[in-house]
Amino acid sequence: MKKKGLISTCIILAVAIFMAVYTGISFNKKRNFVEDVVTEGSAVTRTEKLSTYNKYLANTFGDVDIYVLEGEEPGGSALILGGTHANEPAGHMAAVIILEQFKPTKGTVYVIPDICKSGLSHNDPLEGTPQYLHFATKEGNTRTFHFGSRASNPIDQWPDPDTYLHTSGDWEPLHLAEGANTTQTLSGSEVRNQNRCYPGIADGTLTERVSYAVTNMIKTLKIDMVVDLHESSPEYAVNNAIVAHERAMEIAGMSAAITLDAEQGIKIKVEPSPVNLRGLTHRELGDYTDTFALLCEVGNPSQGRFRGFTDEELAITGKDPCYKVASEIHEGKLLYVDYSSGDFPLSLRVARHITTVAALIENMGYDYPDKEILIDNVPDYQEMVEADDIGLWLR
Ligand SMILES: [Zn+2]
Repeated sequence: MKKKGLISTCIILAVAIFMAVYTGISFNKKRNFVEDVVTEGSAVTRTEKLSTYNKYLANTFGDVDIYVLEGEEPGGSALILGGTHANEPAGHMAAVIILEQFKPTKGTVYVIPDICKSGLSHNDPLEGTPQYLHFATKEGNTRTFHFGSRASNPIDQWPDPDTYLHTSGDWEPLHLAEGANTTQTLSGSEVRNQNRCYPGIADGTLTERVSYAVTNMIKTLKIDMVVDLHESSPEYAVNNAIVAHERAMEIAGMSAAITLDAEQGIKIKVEPSPVNLRGLTHRELGDYTDTFALLCEVGNPSQGRFRGFTDEELAITGKDPCYKVASEIHEGKLLYVDYSSGDFPLSLRVARHITTVAALIENMGYDYPDKEILIDNVPDYQEMVEADDIGLWLR
């Protein structure tokens, strides 16, 4: 009996050691995997380090590259943020394609495709999501990108507090709405949510340091517009939408009604940024800097609660039988995206983001000619949707 117990213990121990080594290797590989952003042949004129705008970010995992695309003629400026939530691949991939394809002839476009690099470096526990996404380029190369977590990696900041008290640190508000709060208590895990940590704290947690650098970058360079690219579950109401700070509402409204809907038949809602929902780009960057702060959402079936088996195929094709069922019951009112076709592919989601960014930049130029940015080589919406393969727009 004693011997039998010893054998069982040894087997369990061996399995536990195997699991720890196997998952440890996998975790370590993902943590250190570097995505290959291709600037050759692109309009990227130079790169900067994000730590330029926060010295406390230097030599940390969050010190990412800022890709600068400068037109020959001076004009306005825009900052595109991808990867804020690393389990929302359309935001990340749209930013990569923007930096590899957009060719500004006037003004400057700054792109940070991996603003929450820490979030890209791991996956959410118990979600069963893929670790990577792969795409074949026109030339036949395979490009590999992270599918990550909604939050920063606990390796970078741990443990989470019971509750997270969001504050605006030392920042002085410039455009605070009357009666608005500047603090908010959130659940503890939100301390690792990049989009709850703006305007940021210089020597705070890694997530707060990154946010501080972005706010300081916008202030220092007087960047005219910031667009933060996200995705949301199909059952979440803020979906296929532009969320706009009150000072950016007109640009968002004209972009959605004229440039996107009337001219191209793309339906995108405009949502006002809630005044007391603190820590988010569209709120804090609009309150604490002079930039026009906007956030874009598209529906992502690989993120929602109704989804079935979650693998790379679901993240790319957006084809999920469970969402199809959800779209067919209760007169389709369970979902906020049109899922009647049974899919909502990454190609469509990325195309919507890219076209929305181009529309917002274009409309800023109409309203404020001194902030005009002109861009060549914007990928065509219909072409992207019909091709259904974003690899064709990767270098
Ligand atoms: Zn998000």
